[in-house]
Amino acid sequence: MLIDTHAHLNFTAFDNNRNEVIKRCLEKDIWMLNVGTNYDTSKKAVEIAEKYEKGVYAAIGLHPEDILKEEFDSEKYKKLAESEKVVAIGEIGLDYWRRPKTKKKLAEFKQKQKELFKKQLDLAKELNLPVILHCRLGFDDLLEILNTKYNGVIHCFTGNWQQAKKFIEMGFYIGFNGIIFKLDLNEVIKKTPLDKILIETDCPFLTPPNFYPEQSRRIGEERNNPLGVKIVARYIAKIKNIPLEKISEITTKNAKELFKIF
Ligand SMILES: [Zn+2]
Repeated sequence: MLIDTHAHLNFTAFDNNRNEVIKRCLEKDIWMLNVGTNYDTSKKAVEIAEKYEKGVYAAIGLHPEDILKEEFDSEKYKKLAESEKVVAIGEIGLDYWRRPKTKKKLAEFKQKQKELFKKQLDLAKELNLPVILHCRLGFDDLLEILNTKYNGVIHCFTGNWQQAKKFIEMGFYIGFNGIIFKLDLNEVIKKTPLDKILIETDCPFLTPPNFYPEQSRRIGEERNNPLGVKIVARYIAKIKNIPLEKISEITTKNAKELFKIF
């Protein structure tokens, strides 16, 4: 069994066959956590999870890139969190990828993201839920804001080992997905203790290489889905030189403990 701890079946990319994809994953013993990026996608993640007795869960939150599209309303998210299927606040964090060029605008931009992030950390604390962190280029700022009061995972990790180590010391898990086929994260994978690793896909994005046979590529099927988590697990097994079964067993245990899903 494997758990895809960061999926987006709640996105429109899956509108044409969402139920089929979920059914196929559950049949293969792959559970998933669908993660919200704003109020609408969070609500959708909850609605999807509510349809399944077991194996499909939801995280709710406002992504830093959606900051201009939505005014964060803690009460609305609290209402969503009344569902038992909501197991985390996320994805939240800092994203300095598409940043303004002038110094003044950049400072404002970062400040706004940090404020939104802190509000959602407060919400997580209040609801006693773990957080799913998203971070691009802002690892040092993120580390400065966080402290041992929170628990959760830093998803789609792209930082270096020094940064990973700090997250681990604060009690966080490190989430690996198909980005490990694009960036060299081998050192981080090697050094992160197995009991601190979560695996994920971030589907429909980050499709691992060779996920689809050539024919499917030709008909345009390129979406990633939670089945891709197995390819991530296999790569980690290779880099750590640990049997795949052990990777599956421990990462599943980690996800169940963090998100309290059984
Ligand atoms: Zn995501």
